[in-house]
Formats: sequence, structure tokens, C-alpha cells
Amino acid sequence: MRHVHLHRILALWFAFLSGFLLAPPARASDFYVPILVYHRFAPTPQNLYTVSLQEFEAQMRYLKENGYQVIPLKTLVDFYLGKGSPPPPRAVVITIDDGHTSVYSYALPILKKYGYPATLFIYPCCIGRVSYALTWEQIRELADQGQDIGSHTRYHPNFKLERRRLKPQEYEELVEKEMTSSKKILEEKLGRSIRYLSYPFGVHDEVLEKKAFQAGYQAMLTIVRRGCDQTSNRGALPRFLIEPHTSIRSFSSILSPQPSPGKLKASWRTGLPCPSVASSTCSMLLIQPSPSPPSRMARILPIQSGSRAISVYRFLGFQKVHPKHWAS
Ligand SMILES: [Zn+2]
Repeated sequence: MRHVHLHRILALWFAFLSGFLLAPPARASDFYVPILVYHRFAPTPQNLYTVSLQEFEAQMRYLKENGYQVIPLKTLVDFYLGKGSPPPPRAVVITIDDGHTSVYSYALPILKKYGYPATLFIYPCCIGRVSYALTWEQIRELADQGQDIGSHTRYHPNFKLERRRLKPQEYEELVEKEMTSSKKILEEKLGRSIRYLSYPFGVHDEVLEKKAFQAGYQAMLTIVRRGCDQTSNRGALPRFLIEPHTSIRSFSSILSPQPSPGKLKASWRTGLPCPSVASSTCSMLLIQPSPSPPSRMARILPIQSGSRAISVYRFLGFQKVHPKHWAS
């Protein structure tokens, strides 16, 4: 009898404490950084890659008004290189692919207004040759004003198609040439080092990644729709393609971490909500299901397996779930 009473007191005491205990401090290196990718800008969008000026301005304003900090791509990459500290909370990276002339005429004034840095990925074969592309003078001016320039290969080939079309040896030579010559041309024309590459059409595989590292790039970017975190591979950093008619609501949703599809599937399977913590940060998750129905309100506690605290939490109704069950 006395034993039961003691348990009741303990349960109340832990229930009171759990509010504090359940919020383990985030490690300094835990972060979520969405990289946005734009292409073209116009007063009214004419195609899938053109964002209207009003939309772009509204998105930049949203970042400012909601405490987001636009950081240079370099800040993020330097962290992966072990040369810098983790990005600040609510950090966002802006990239613009293809070097369309509207970057200079429409996006630059807005970026300047908000003091936002961006990285422009250029494929040099078009520069100064076609009317819709930036000129070298414009790119130099953008770079002088603090915008970073990256490579988008030399002529923007679709490596997936080329791999099918060419013999293996020819394909390999094409990849090497596209990656190295574009870096070299940009460096010679702009007098600064080109450290990042955006894969044309987002086509990425291990071979392309290896070749890009061999060409001397520090980081490469895809269009896989995900944010970056401390575990991201700098050979294939994910990005969110911003399309025209993106509502502020969907824009804001990409600025915070989303559960991965794998985790969502797991949540359906178990009927429990998804943990928003990366499974790599803990070896065990303790789940306290909310009474009913299962909702995002359930409490999730990452904990090291073997921790003596587990028995205490189980006493409070937590269930033990191995992170692998959430990530499969
Ligand atoms: Zn492109």
C-alpha cells in the first residue's frame, strides 16, 4: 500500500517536471536551412520558371518581417567543410540559376533593398551571346555588389540524356570538360574563385558528384525538395524550387523543417505522430501518445539507449521506439 502511494507521488512529481525534462536542449550544430532556387523574374509570370516581381518582393518581405536571416551559401558550406560555426537560427539561402537578364533588372534591386546575398549559377557559353542572358559586365557588377557567382556547367547539358547518347568514355570526357571549363572561364572573366556548382536540371549521381569534387568545387546543389541540416552531403545539397503563384502560406511552410516521407509513412503505420527530430541525434525515442486521437501534440523525447532516465519516462506512460522505425 505504501509502495503504491509512493509511486503516485513520484508520478505527480515527474508529471510536473516533465515540462522541463521533455525539452532537451538542441545541440549547437542542429539546424535546418532551406536553400531557395529561383530562375527568372518578370512583372507578370509567363512560364513555370518565372516568378512575378510582386511575389518575389512579398517573399523577401516575409523573410524580413518574420525574423529570417538570409545567409551567404558560403556560411553553410564552410560549416560542412569544418571551417565555420553552424548557421544561425532561421537562416535561409537564396540561389538563382541560369543567369537570365531579369536577375539584373528585376531581382537585384529587391535583393539590394533587403540587403540579401544570393548565389547566381551561370553557364558561361550563353553569356554575351544571347539576348536573354546577362552580360559579363552585369555579372561583374553583381559580383562587385556582393552577390556570389557559381558554375552551372559550361552549356547546361542534360547529363541524363548525354549518358544515354554517348559512349562511356565520351560521356566521361564531356562531364569533365563541362565542369572544369566552366569553372575556369568564370574565374578568368571575373577574377574570383568559383567554389560551387549547381547541377543542370538538378541531375545528380555519384559519378557527377565525384567529377565535380575532382574539378575543385567545394559544394554542389540539386533540386531535391528538402532543407539542409547538419548531416547534409555538400556534394548534393537539396534546394526548394520556387515556382510562380507560390502562396505565402506554402512559402512559409518550407521555411521550417518538415517530416520526411519515410517518417510520415512510419507515423501512418504506427498511428503515432512524426518526430520532428533527426533520428541521428539520438539512439532512442520515447513517445508519449496524446490521449486521443493521435496528434502532433504527443511528446517525443530523444534519449540515449541505456540511459537510466528511460525507466522514469516509461513510468510516465512513454513508449520506447527505436529511431530506425521512424526512418524506414
Ligand atoms: Zn539551369
